[in-house]
Amino acid sequence: MVKLFLYNTLRRKKEEFRPIKKARAGLYTCGPTVYNFAHLGNLRSYVFADLLTRILRYNLGLTNVKWVMNITDVDDKTIRNAKMKYPDLEPRASLKKFTAEFEKYFWQDLAALNISKPDYVTHAADEKYINKMKNLIKNIFTSGYAYVKDGSVYFDVIKYGQKYKYGQLAEVDVSKLKPGVRVDADEYGKDNAQDFVLWKGRKENEPSWDFELNGQKLPGRPGWHIECSAMAEAELGTPFDIHTGGVDLKFPHHENEIHQSVVGYKVKKPVNYWLHNEHLLVDGQRMGKRFNNFYTLKDLAARGINPLAYRFLCLQTGYGKVMNFTWEALKAADEGLKHLYNQVKELRITNHELRIKDINVNFKKKFLEAVNDDLNMPRALAAAQELFKSDLASQEKLATVLDFDKVLGLNLASPESGCDKEAPAEIKELVNQRERARQEKNWPESDRLRAEIKKSGWNVEDTSEGQRVSKK
Ligand SMILES: [Zn+2]
Repeated sequence: MVKLFLYNTLRRKKEEFRPIKKARAGLYTCGPTVYNFAHLGNLRSYVFADLLTRILRYNLGLTNVKWVMNITDVDDKTIRNAKMKYPDLEPRASLKKFTAEFEKYFWQDLAALNISKPDYVTHAADEKYINKMKNLIKNIFTSGYAYVKDGSVYFDVIKYGQKYKYGQLAEVDVSKLKPGVRVDADEYGKDNAQDFVLWKGRKENEPSWDFELNGQKLPGRPGWHIECSAMAEAELGTPFDIHTGGVDLKFPHHENEIHQSVVGYKVKKPVNYWLHNEHLLVDGQRMGKRFNNFYTLKDLAARGINPLAYRFLCLQTGYGKVMNFTWEALKAADEGLKHLYNQVKELRITNHELRIKDINVNFKKKFLEAVNDDLNMPRALAAAQELFKSDLASQEKLATVLDFDKVLGLNLASPESGCDKEAPAEIKELVNQRERARQEKNWPESDRLRAEIKKSGWNVEDTSEGQRVSKK
């Protein structure tokens, strides 16, 4: 058994992962705010969360890991852009229509990067979760850490700081907090760490839900931070094992999530391990529309680059390091990936049957030690290269490297033929799930997925090259 170590932002050090329930793990990832296309920096967060989930599954088994991701489909930005795009629709209908479009693109991007679909996807504007958010706000209010002002509900940070530690993930100068000063924006800097909004009172032409607190009618909508606290608790309970997100979410978003759950759910430590991936720079600069360096997967397609080359590039940099994106680096990754595909292809000359017993235990251990060392993917990729150079038999090398690919997710089993290029993202996702089930020898699940793929009008065939998908 190789121990798993993760860098925990909460303690600012690498720690051994000890799950709450033996050999099981629950994790929550802050999903996208669906108001625009995801850029490469956003996507890095999901490649990271996917790798972590795959590593947990590699250690604990396919079905023992529960991955939850939310979709933020109600916040300042989605409301603003929905109003611009569909001004004539009723506000909630406009928001729903607008966010559904960008959510669809988001899942397409994830499928293109071979990112597995989370086990649970929660939508913030879903009535079921809105009710959870209202209940959490009521709890916080009853505990005495929230107050109503001008139709909105705010969290009292000064009062919180008197009893609990304020600034657990990010260093915040608590002496600068001013009592009764409020911030309504969903995003703000450390300099205006003030009472933040839990529930925003209704504004004209904005979507809203009914809410009653302490006998007062407060129609409005949730603040961004309360959404994640309530949705994570709804699917994973509190405390849960791991929470992931980009480093920019540490403050205020994740900090506020902790405060809300501590007083609202009366739990000392709502999350045991907080993991954050670093920023992506483009040519040494922060990515932004005004710098004209806001790249999405469409820009890769326009240059004829396989989206998995971007995944491969992310793997070459530790998630905890700032990654500098350049087109040259991406092209080199694209070449590197093609080389890797050729290396795998050469092993197939004998075209034998793949057997689990052919996986080389020494190399598997080496690989596991690398990925379990806080996702050290550069070291894991080096182990794969060492494997190719070794004098093991081809079939051992092949079985071993395809086993590594459960974590790498580079489609090494079937770089070209695995999935029909025309197959839609939903089908690709089912094929990926089936691949995982097959690796786990979960045959009933594999058969169930085959039937599901068939029902959608596609055939799946198992060949020595892996699964082959074609239109019925
Ligand atoms: Zn979140």
